[in-house]
Amino acid sequence: MAQAVLTIDLDAVTANWRALAALGHAEAGAVVKADAYGLGADRVARALARAGARRFFVAEAAEGARLREALGPEPEILVFTGHMAGDAEALAAARLVPMLNSPEQVRRHLDALPGHPFGVQLDTGMNRLGMEDTDWRALAPGLLASGPRVLMSHLACADEPDHPMNAAQLRTFRRMTGGTGVPRSFAATGGILLGPEYHFEVTRPGVGLYGGAPFAEARPVVRLSLPVVQVRDVAPGETAGYGNAWTATRPSRVATLSSGYADGLFRSMSGRASVFAGDTACPLVGRVSMDLMAADVTDLDEVPEALDILGAHQGVDALATAAGTIGYEVLTALGARYARRYNEAAA
Ligand SMILES: *Cc1c(COP(=O)(O)O)cnc(C)c1O
Repeated sequence: MAQAVLTIDLDAVTANWRALAALGHAEAGAVVKADAYGLGADRVARALARAGARRFFVAEAAEGARLREALGPEPEILVFTGHMAGDAEALAAARLVPMLNSPEQVRRHLDALPGHPFGVQLDTGMNRLGMEDTDWRALAPGLLASGPRVLMSHLACADEPDHPMNAAQLRTFRRMTGGTGVPRSFAATGGILLGPEYHFEVTRPGVGLYGGAPFAEARPVVRLSLPVVQVRDVAPGETAGYGNAWTATRPSRVATLSSGYADGLFRSMSGRASVFAGDTACPLVGRVSMDLMAADVTDLDEVPEALDILGAHQGVDALATAAGTIGYEVLTALGARYARRYNEAAA
């Protein structure tokens, strides 16, 4: 088949969710923003709901509205960007919970949707999203009286366990939320791994569900197989691909594979990543182009119909390192052209 195949192991996603939940006593939510990090929010969220997840986090109201259709009426869906101008209709229709992050959003929410549930996002030092301490102090009495669903904040350096920012943000979060009696949420994947004092009542794992660092014990979730379009012999001194970027130094076999940077396999992977035939690594040669790339398959006895660029031997983080980026970016860039297959024994 001509199409590359992305296989998504939903059983691994739910196993990763359970494993992260088991690291403490908090309720584990699930972050499924950006189409569940590129893996398909509908399928991923339904699998997690079956496994017991009750709170889902997305970035935008529009994502939340689509997710509501996939999940049905029960689970709570919380929106990180809060209540933006123009969101009221979607928030009301899909019964989404905006995480209000400024006095302006509080005003907008109470004007447009009085009585509609909300949460509050607090800034504890990251300076990205969330209410500043002084604004929170002024607004807290009124907001707490209407019973926010959750108070949350986000860690800037949770993937660096020894970074002093973690403890500093934890102290600030405790000071801003202590004694409120409202469920609190502080830890994403990295924060969960910092230890139970970071968990509070609700955690927000994202990348760890999808098999990415910093959750080193995660079960791999994705496999990506690229079909071989053509195989040719290349003599020493001959070149392959744009810019003659690779020159054969021995009598070589080169396979042309379907998929390229238009499919989220970055040009910066050129000459730095491999594809795999079973256990055998075949280095990429020449430049990754828009729809195609090439691999040196000289050492294979037999060239299979497809070679894996993501799988047991090269996970999202290894491929990301080869491309000079992080696993999050490799996942969320996975292209629309792939045939997506979902493995789910439990369904
Ligand atoms: C993306 C995000 C998460 C999930 O983070 P991971 O590192 O993927 O676990 C949690 N909380 C907020 C506010 C986020 O933006």
